[in-house]
Amino acid sequence: MEPSPAKPHALCIPLPAQGHINPMLKLAKLLHHKGFHITFVHTEFNHQRLDKSLGESALRGLDDFRFEVISDGLPPSNPRGILDLPSLCLTLPVDGLRSFRKLVMKLMNSDAPPLTCIVSDGVMSFTLEVAREFGLPEVMFFTPSGCGMLGYLHFEELVDRGLFPLKDESCVNNGFLDKAVDWIPAMQGIRLRDLPTFIRTTDPDDIMFNYNSESVNNAFKADGVILNTFDDLEGEVVEAIKAKYPQLYTLGPLPKLHQQLLPSPNSLDSIQSSLWKEDGGCLVWLDGREPGSVLYVNFGSLITVTREELREFAWGLANSRCSFLWVVRPNVVNGGEDVISEAFREEMRDRGLMVGWCAQERVLAHSSVGGFLTHCGWNSTLESMCAGVPLVCWPFFAEQHMNCLYSCGRWGIGLEMIDGGSGDLKRDRVERVVRELMEGEKGRDARKKAMEWKERGEAATRPQGSSHTNLDRLVNKLRGL
Ligand code: UDP
Repeated sequence: MEPSPAKPHALCIPLPAQGHINPMLKLAKLLHHKGFHITFVHTEFNHQRLDKSLGESALRGLDDFRFEVISDGLPPSNPRGILDLPSLCLTLPVDGLRSFRKLVMKLMNSDAPPLTCIVSDGVMSFTLEVAREFGLPEVMFFTPSGCGMLGYLHFEELVDRGLFPLKDESCVNNGFLDKAVDWIPAMQGIRLRDLPTFIRTTDPDDIMFNYNSESVNNAFKADGVILNTFDDLEGEVVEAIKAKYPQLYTLGPLPKLHQQLLPSPNSLDSIQSSLWKEDGGCLVWLDGREPGSVLYVNFGSLITVTREELREFAWGLANSRCSFLWVVRPNVVNGGEDVISEAFREEMRDRGLMVGWCAQERVLAHSSVGGFLTHCGWNSTLESMCAGVPLVCWPFFAEQHMNCLYSCGRWGIGLEMIDGGSGDLKRDRVERVVRELMEGEKGRDARKKAMEWKERGEAATRPQGSSHTNLDRLVNKLRGL
């Protein structure tokens, strides 16, 4: 009898941050479902964190879904938070590259099926060098929204048009960023303020600006580009991106595609990626609340707020009189955590719960949750849409302002926390916006829209839907390369 041919083997490598690891893991599971052997790469630092948050069993993997590690080049003492992203952008392309090359060499000489492709995060483009050295095809997965991605794709033109770097610091607040930009296709009327925040600097050598700009340019050398969005949601933007990358695969919303093809329980359920230990008690707490009555508050895995912002926010939330589940990540405050006093916690006890980290998708799917106050990370935005939950949008950095603009202005699923996207946060405003979302007419409209988008996201991921079909196209492409 002929031996059965080896499985195709995909090496999946995310940027080592929660908002990148989660969607890459979903994609890896989908490829596994389509018959691929998977090797999933974490950094040593994150591997240790996952070990702590999930326990050793969560990384054990399966015979054909394995984990490997590379170095990120930073010392163990580095907290790898938002302020250290520039350091990571410097060390990954050097130490990460070296370590990744060694890993590929090791896999080439192992008893695993021969490597057939690399699926790399779009901002880990140093992997392309290794792919070329070993003659492996590579597709790049950019985890931001389509609109965010289109912003990054025009960074070079910002330089050519003399808009980057900013002439001086005053440009951030003197109205310069309010200028409308009319030369980005599919984005009429957007302002410089809406573009990814890495443009807000006077330094021509700014690491984050240049790293992102180079990443989107490097992707021209890849065999394909993947986005976690769907054509119905961002059609015009997707077309504009396709004009740059013809080999584009929109697979979103990945949480829905994942549910569609891999409903729980399944053999991959034990493979998880939460870098913090999830507090399961909040789900029990939600069980005891009225349907649609709770505002869920979470600022994601990276951003930090000032003590002043947190204080204003906390009192605005308290004054709104709404019930809330607030995830206060251990390192969310820049410069101390004692802003949320015991007195505040005590006063809120009847209608609020604060925890350190939660299983966000499960929280959003809970019937007691009626709104989500978010920093507009793309995963959070999509996960909320998948649950039909409307948003209060409080964007901070990267492409979050773009996600806010589209969520509030185009998709109609959110209300803006800070009117017009600039200025300081004030407790009165927090109180008003939270009330409006949970009890007002605008909140009702946003909820209706969120439900509509939920259904449209489901349609995209059902058989014959655009994202479902694109996954099949991608799988055929990866098998054929
Ligand atoms: N997340 C979670 N529990 C939390 C906070 C966040 O599981 O308490 C997950 C969330 O579901 C999402 C990711 O972490 O998948 C955050 O990604 P996002 O793009 O929203 O924001 P980022 O953390 O990258 O700023």
